[in-house]
Amino acid sequence: MLEKVLQNINKFYQQDFKTPEQTQKMFELINEVVEFDFGAIFYLVPNELQLKFQTNNIFEKTYKIDDKLTEILYTPTIKDISSNLKNLFLLKNHLITTRLTIKGTVLGVLCLARKNKPYTQDEQIIIETYSNIIANIIKDIELAQILSHQTKTLEKGLKETHKAYETIKQQNKKIKENEKLQNQFLANISHDLRTPLNSIICLSEILSNKMFGDLNDKQLEYIEDIRISGIRLLGMINEVLDITKLESKTISLNKTNINLTILSNEVINILKPLYNKKNIKIACEFPKDITMIGDYIKLQQVLFNIIGNAIKFSPENSTIEIKITQSNKNIAISIKDYGIGISKTNQKKIFKKFYQVENTLSKSELSTGLGLTIAKEFVKLHKGKIEVSSEIQNGTTFTIKLPIMND
Ligand code: ADP
Repeated sequence: MLEKVLQNINKFYQQDFKTPEQTQKMFELINEVVEFDFGAIFYLVPNELQLKFQTNNIFEKTYKIDDKLTEILYTPTIKDISSNLKNLFLLKNHLITTRLTIKGTVLGVLCLARKNKPYTQDEQIIIETYSNIIANIIKDIELAQILSHQTKTLEKGLKETHKAYETIKQQNKKIKENEKLQNQFLANISHDLRTPLNSIICLSEILSNKMFGDLNDKQLEYIEDIRISGIRLLGMINEVLDITKLESKTISLNKTNINLTILSNEVINILKPLYNKKNIKIACEFPKDITMIGDYIKLQQVLFNIIGNAIKFSPENSTIEIKITQSNKNIAISIKDYGIGISKTNQKKIFKKFYQVENTLSKSELSTGLGLTIAKEFVKLHKGKIEVSSEIQNGTTFTIKLPIMND
């Protein structure tokens, strides 16, 4: 008998109750060890508020859980369940009823009935064992359903995430294309503006040098104003162009052998009308020929921005000192002015894009707030750095530190 039960249990484990045929197979297996005429299983459908009733006669019915059914299942004693079932199905047979439970949770009821003889104690024990297995199978089905539900939700979530990712990717692509167009537009427009501005600056220089005849004082003054405005405007246009290139990351160094002394003198010469207008003296301390490897145009722009600022923020009749020194493989260019100075807090902010310290000078002069940002980035491209030391009302010193880079 025990051997039969054990063999049977193994087969039993392979069943589930998805179809009435499978349930019938399960009853057949029970019938091999404990005889009965009528078998019924009554169990909670996992995850649904339903009770399923299946019999060994391929009879199947699903009940919505209502008070009456709950009462049948959860009545305190098996005896009560039996009498309840008897009442419900009008069974006048010998009855064996067991609860299907897992760790105290009732999942259903198994009921067997026969006419000829009452059930023995042993048979009761065997059916209880089968009930435990059925309870485990029901739990397994529930777990499998939860798992499949979770997998589906996960798959859905993954699909949605993927869709969102694709949308963001498309939007990014569009933004990048727009940015590219905008940058291209800015680069074109800046380039187109530079050409006529260069003519204005050159021609006003020729006129003020009286190459085509004498000019009266008023004419000279106006021509000088045209030239100064032209230089400032050109500076601004260059800044817009440079920042566009920096942002689109299309900037690289066009390295050549540079004579820093010549380069610095050139910048000072370009800015001459600006400091002459304020009667500012530029005091230079340059060693004869300091050379390094770098991008000529970019370093010219760095000096133009920093010396331009020194002029802008210096009082009339003051001096700006420009010094170039070399030690080992490093060059330092310092630009010292005796202007309005920069507070400690603002010294940290001035290299940020568009940052301008609130003062009347910044507002009155043509400026973009981009000069130092560009200078810092260009120096960084040369693996150098810019340092600032300043005291309010006592002036500012910017020091550009660059490696010579000639090996
Ligand atoms: P801007 O186009 O306004 O000159 P910059 O990026 O070149 O922009 O400079 C940012 C701000 O730093 C300026 O608006 C000014 O407030 C401050 N600054 C720069 N250089 C000096 C200086 N030499 N003396 C005092 N303030 C300065």
